[in-house]
Amino acid sequence: MTDCIFCKIANKEIGKLVYEDDTVVAFDDLNPQAPVHVLVIPKKHIARISDIRDGEDANLVGHIMVVAGKIAAERGIADDGYRVVANCNEGAGQSVWHIHFHLLGGRNLGWPPG
Ligand code: 5GP
Ligand code: ZN
Repeated sequence: MTDCIFCKIANKEIGKLVYEDDTVVAFDDLNPQAPVHVLVIPKKHIARISDIRDGEDANLVGHIMVVAGKIAAERGIADDGYRVVANCNEGAGQSVWHIHFHLLGGRNLGWPPG
């Protein structure tokens, strides 16, 4: 997707990655909501969580959870606790149409989220 900001970040046309492998990248959120706020995304353009299909996509999302856990450990938030959250569609707060998993930590996180 040429007009997708997160595809551009994944392709390293803009921004700075904090993690990259064959299928996934991660980068710090532009507008952090916690001391650690990293976005973990697939390189593959998938518009929304509800577009994730079983099989290849499901494996990819499982891998994203593993990557999020590794980054949490690297950033020193794994033991205290962290949250991985994805917003699907406008009503849940989705504003970028390339799936992304927010990794949040470094402060007490309230529940339920707003
Ligand atoms: P959403 O609202 O879709 O759940 O999350 C989108 C997130 O992407 C927001 O937290 C927002 O701050 C972040 N974001 C939007 N555009 C950019 C960008 O160009 N660079 C980075 N690093 N983060 C972005
Ligand atoms: Zn994209």
